[in-house]
Amino acid sequence: MTDVVENLIEVRDALPDGVELVAVSKFHPAEAIMLAYGAGQRCFGESRVQELLAKEDVLPKDIKWHFIGHLQTNKVRQLIGKTSLIESVDSERLLALIDAESAKAGVVTRVLMQVHVAKEETKFGFLPEELLEYFREKRFEKLTHTHICGVMGMASNTDDNERVRADFAAIASIFRTIADDEKLGLRGFDTLSMGMSHDWPLAVEEGANLVRIGSGIFGERIY
Ligand SMILES: *Cc1c(COP(=O)(O)O)cnc(C)c1O
Repeated sequence: MTDVVENLIEVRDALPDGVELVAVSKFHPAEAIMLAYGAGQRCFGESRVQELLAKEDVLPKDIKWHFIGHLQTNKVRQLIGKTSLIESVDSERLLALIDAESAKAGVVTRVLMQVHVAKEETKFGFLPEELLEYFREKRFEKLTHTHICGVMGMASNTDDNERVRADFAAIASIFRTIADDEKLGLRGFDTLSMGMSHDWPLAVEEGANLVRIGSGIFGERIY
């Protein structure tokens, strides 16, 4: 049996001040979430819309849900109003839809832009140059009901620590280029989400202030 509370406390003790933890609960039951909740954890991450909604429905209302998976456009409407942060905005089309549905619902949705640097990991996310161009051209000014809070990224899935570190450094560099550009006039663009169970210490060293840890807390997922 995985000791969720013990793992959680260990992770939290290891995280430096100022780094926020998303406990990634995807594929784990509500009971496992409640163990972490009982130990004070309030922020949880899910990668599938249906699963997030089912859990949101039955679990305490002060939980902050982060959506971290690929979001299909036909599922956006259901998700609006249920999340504290959508970390995985991977296209401008998706962003436009989130904005439109948020306007209809009369809410402001907080999001991160997912940037794609790892070679083999996932096909989702903006390429660094695309993302920089998006901001350089101030295309975010069209948004009325979406707050872009920062950047999320993943490193290559490899044992080569230098490669992982280089990926995190690249993501952090893109984040800072945008965050430090005063001409953009962005407000609250301050979140850099990177690092998972096996690589979060490197991510934190490279500047992450939000980490997403699943199996390191809840144990291996059974798909
Ligand atoms: C599943 C997932 C995580 C957590 O992965 P672990 O290796 O279990 O810590 C983090 N980020 C994203 C985007 C994920 O899909």
